[in-house]
Amino acid sequence: MKKTIYELLLRSAALFGIPARLFARALKSQSTNLIILLYHDVDREQFRNHLHFLDKHFRLVDLDELVHLIERREFPSDLTAAITFDDGLQSFYRNAFPIVDETGIPVANYVTSGVVDSEYWYKPGQHRIFIPGKTESEPTQLILPQDRNDAKNSGFTIEPGLTSEQLLEASRHPKITIGAHSVTHRLLRETTYDECKREIFDSKKDLESLIGHEVRHFAYPGGSFSEREVLLVQEAGFASGASSQDIWIPREVSPFIIPRKGAGPKGVSLNWLQYRIGR
Ligand SMILES: [Zn+2]
Repeated sequence: MKKTIYELLLRSAALFGIPARLFARALKSQSTNLIILLYHDVDREQFRNHLHFLDKHFRLVDLDELVHLIERREFPSDLTAAITFDDGLQSFYRNAFPIVDETGIPVANYVTSGVVDSEYWYKPGQHRIFIPGKTESEPTQLILPQDRNDAKNSGFTIEPGLTSEQLLEASRHPKITIGAHSVTHRLLRETTYDECKREIFDSKKDLESLIGHEVRHFAYPGGSFSEREVLLVQEAGFASGASSQDIWIPREVSPFIIPRKGAGPKGVSLNWLQYRIGR
């Protein structure tokens, strides 16, 4: 694999224990006019306001086009953004899909394949998300709830994933791109090689069989990746890998480690978005 300076810097930063935050600051000086925004959950009014603002100030492109720009190292002089969602929550179908349809602004959703027709159980503030019946073991002290009641009683939030019908309908919309986000949303750096390979390869295969066309883009759950995950994402045949490093896209970017800027939790104001994308 040809390594870009960005990848080498990232590895050196990890080796010397430099926090991602400081590393991100160092990269700011070489950022391009490209940005990918990352949402999880939105309400309709919030999302409509955000899109209206973004549409005024950015050229909004779909994920394929943004990845092409990176591959060709064509960094535009005008501000250019792609909008992405993670996880494949059912709220995407309810709240974001109608606004995408209304505005015609392209959006991608990186879907965790195991959550389709199922649900997420997670504790707010934690990266770990469990999918009942799919998540078998975790190398941490966190104990998986026995059932829904147990999950609720022990402080888990339960969030339904897209149904297969909703996923199929979304995937057929010309302005929606479906990406993959692993099978069970485990933090990939904490998995064995075989588990990691399954999480990456099977998410692609499962989603492709659900929607009937190629899934070209992957996002690392919880932004957890190392060189191993980057290589497996390439080996699986994906065209790109997205992290959640909270920065504008730098010049020395690899299509397999594309940073994304968090656009904020559900219900945040336009001011918050403006603050988040400032540089
Ligand atoms: Zn996620």
